[in-house]
This record gives sequence, structure tokens and C-alpha cells, in this order.
Amino acid sequence: MESTAGLGDALVDWYDTAARDLPWRRPGVDPWAVLVSEVMLQQTPVARVAPVWTEWMARWPAPADLAAASPAEVIRAWGKLGYPRRALRLRETAVALTERHAGAVPADVAALEALPGVGTYTARAVACFGHGQPQPVVDTNVRRVVARLVHGRAEAGTARASDLTDVAALAPTDRDRACRFSVAAMELGALVCVARTPRCAVCPVRDRCAWRLAGCPSADGPPRRVQRFAGTDRQVRGRLLDVLRAADGPVPAGALDAVWDDAVQRSRCLDSLLADGLVEQTGDGRFTLPA
Ligand code: SF4
Repeated sequence: MESTAGLGDALVDWYDTAARDLPWRRPGVDPWAVLVSEVMLQQTPVARVAPVWTEWMARWPAPADLAAASPAEVIRAWGKLGYPRRALRLRETAVALTERHAGAVPADVAALEALPGVGTYTARAVACFGHGQPQPVVDTNVRRVVARLVHGRAEAGTARASDLTDVAALAPTDRDRACRFSVAAMELGALVCVARTPRCAVCPVRDRCAWRLAGCPSADGPPRRVQRFAGTDRQVRGRLLDVLRAADGPVPAGALDAVWDDAVQRSRCLDSLLADGLVEQTGDGRFTLPA
């Protein structure tokens, strides 16, 4: 493997000129706001997250505010971000922060990982972007950048224990730059070293990229399948929740029947929403968001 010295600094220099102006990156954004943004961004694009995040932070600026909200309120506020169990988990996180940490977001990675719904990625993202700690923050984009730039592979493949050490090894030694490096690597993966057609011509490290130097070899294995949405249980669950979000109170089963023709799939999805705690059934058989 070629030396990787200076690659992290090159990415930081590029980030300082090319970074997107995202609301959760602005000065004064606190660790709680970073945590909320990271949970929202896990499976949802930036453009859809930004307006919801802005409203959410205005309404619940501190963990104690969200902890005091009802599940129905947070499910409504989650809007169309998708994967709405994240809304309930975020509320559980707010409750845990209020009870265990006096309403503050800890800086310690282990303490963050002990919170409900906070995994390796989110804990390090909050420690780094929220508290200014140099931490390797490894998401899908970063793994892809490292696979190409350092290892000469077209795709990252499955996650490995070495991902964190791979990324930490690229970080500049200066503490502030090491912190910016983590977001710089993510940004490169989001804007330039993208999954399908990397924009190598405008890449700041193209002359040192192991994948390019190796002649841009193809990925091993079968091509990745594109996830469809139409007709999936995710779509049906979203439509059922839309009805309950728009209603002032419990709705009869007939109001839900109208949103999807396939009764078997509709029933399966409603059952899963009940099991996830996103929907409740009243004593008289109607359905509602959880109180
Ligand atoms: S040169 Fe191309 S493949 Fe290599 S890191 Fe840059 S964008 Fe990715």
C-alpha cells in the first residue's frame, strides 16, 4: 500500500472550500442538535431532513423538551422522513438523557453508546461534530472513500472491525483538523466519491487514489440491487401512518382500508405498526397514534 501521509490534510483543505452549508454544521449548534440531525440523516437525504430538523429544534431545543412530548406528537413531527421508529427512539434517547445525564448530551463515546438507539456511528458523530473530539466517524460514504482511496477496491464490501482504525490512521495529528477530517471524508463520499459514478476529475486526492492508480478495477461480486419503494411494506406503513397523523382522534378500520387494496399486506403492515408502538388500538376497535 502507498503511504497515506498527508491524505487527511488534503481532504480537510478541500472540505474548507467545498463543504455544504448545512444547518447542523453552523456555529452554535449544540451536541443535542447534532444528535437529532444524525438520527434523522441515517436513512434520509439531507434535503428532506433540513426543514424537519429546523422545526424539530425550534420546538424541542433540549432533550428535556422532547422527553416531555407525547409519542403522538413526535410521530406527527417526524412527518415524511421515513423509518418512523427513529422518532420514538429519539424520544427514548431524550428521556434517558434527562434521567441519566441531567438533560445534557455526554461527550464520552461509551456513555453515548449506552443510550437507547445510539450505535457506534452516532456516538462518534456526536462526540466529534457536537463536542469537537477527534473521533473516526465511519458511515457508508466513508467506508467507500477508504476502500477506493486507500485499498484500491471499487466497493467497501461488508463492514469490518478495521474500518475505524483505517479511518483513524488517515486523520491529521492536529486536533481541530482531525475533527474536521471526519466530516471531510463523509462529505467527499457524499459529493465526489459517490457510489455509482465517482467524480474523479474533480477529486482533491485523485493523483493519490489507489483505485485510480490500479486502473479503476470493477467491483467483485454481483452488482448491487437498487432498493425499490413502490409496493413495499414501507410504502403501506407510510400511508397508514399518514391517515393517523392527519386525524384529530382515533379512526375506524375502514379509513385505513381505503389507502391500500391488498388486504393481506395492509393487515400485515398495520400489525407491524402496532408491534412497533407507532399505532394503538382503542377499546372500541379504532386506531390512533400512541398517547
Ligand atoms: S479519485 Fe475517484 S475513486 Fe478515488 S477517492 Fe477520488 S472520487 Fe473516489
